[in-house]
Amino acid sequence: MSTKFDQELEYRLLRYAAIDSQSDEDSASSPSTEIQFDMLRLLQKELEEIGAKDIELTDYGVVLATIPGTVSGPTVGFLAHVDTAPQFNATGVKPRVIRGYNGGDISYPDAPDLVLSPEEFPYLADKIGQDIITASGTTLLGADDKAGVAIIMTAARHMIANPELPHGPIRIAFTPDEEIGRGVVSNLPKDFAVDFAYTFDGQAIGEIEFESFSADKAVVTITGVSIHPGLAHGKMVSAIHLASKIISTLPQATMTPDTTTDRDGFIHATEMAGDAAEMKIKFILRDFELDGLAAKGQLVSQVCATVQASEPRCEIMCAIEPQYRNMRYWLETDMAPVDLARQAAGELSVDPVSVPIRGGTDGSRLTEMGVPTPNLFTGMQNIHGPLEWISVQDMAIATDLCLTISRLAARPLK
Ligand SMILES: [Zn+2]
Repeated sequence: MSTKFDQELEYRLLRYAAIDSQSDEDSASSPSTEIQFDMLRLLQKELEEIGAKDIELTDYGVVLATIPGTVSGPTVGFLAHVDTAPQFNATGVKPRVIRGYNGGDISYPDAPDLVLSPEEFPYLADKIGQDIITASGTTLLGADDKAGVAIIMTAARHMIANPELPHGPIRIAFTPDEEIGRGVVSNLPKDFAVDFAYTFDGQAIGEIEFESFSADKAVVTITGVSIHPGLAHGKMVSAIHLASKIISTLPQATMTPDTTTDRDGFIHATEMAGDAAEMKIKFILRDFELDGLAAKGQLVSQVCATVQASEPRCEIMCAIEPQYRNMRYWLETDMAPVDLARQAAGELSVDPVSVPIRGGTDGSRLTEMGVPTPNLFTGMQNIHGPLEWISVQDMAIATDLCLTISRLAARPLK
């Protein structure tokens, strides 16, 4: 089984995945890591080679480009992010292709105990005969979101090389720092200048997503009373004990990432650090609805206030900040971009599925900022870990989806 895009997609993904472009939440710079420029500059050069126009690497680390329309129509944007997730080793990625997958367990050259099995991951069982790309066992693959980059680059090259294909103006954006929620800065909507857009950052074939979490973060700072332990009687207040009290008072058998699914949100303590004098706990708060999100913030604040009341000599501060919002709040008022993607999927005999994303995308922020941006499948699976994999043929379907959307957008919606 092969399509006209298989070779190019495989070649691109293997090349992009081998480049370390991991983002770093703890870095204050923008992009968060200098290494992301290795991907950004490569893409800038490749866009020049395929003949894209208006190519620009902005000072905030986004590569922008235009494919001029061959007919008139709204300007459609396609985005993918160049960074890979900070949650797992992304240095020294050695991608490899398993050609004509035989349906059995997949083992890894650099991690003998690691197994990717179709029993555990039934989506893999559907891919017999296809070409599967994985990492070597000690790193993630980075198909999230280099598959998106490869898909958009392949579709762009194809459109430019075939000027007889009808499509309106197309804009491309390759963003940094999506994985740490900093991919969309305030200038991007204006510089991108599109009527609507799509991220290629989804997973299983068919996924056309227009709902993401709404997200806040909370940082709790606990200041105890510090004194030499030999002189501490009746005086010391340990921030460590208070921090553990906060954690143990918050729900543990409910409302956590591992105990919730579907439409239920959670409170997740992502980091706790410090010493007896001062502790910091970082939380992420997630819910699909704003009232549910606010309730989670209130619960964290309330627990802090209760622990504070139990020990007036300490100081507990709880700072809650918005991160991104469910794009459904905006998209449901105009479903045209979602309907267009569904129509394109239909032409490719792909059944569109819209499940709420238990996370956010660059589209969450962009949509909130006025650029409707649903999320589309790439084929990537088991992201952010060593079992990450993707089928080349799935990526080819996503490439066809990109081309079909570009064609359909140039004429009025039915
Ligand atoms: Zn992603």
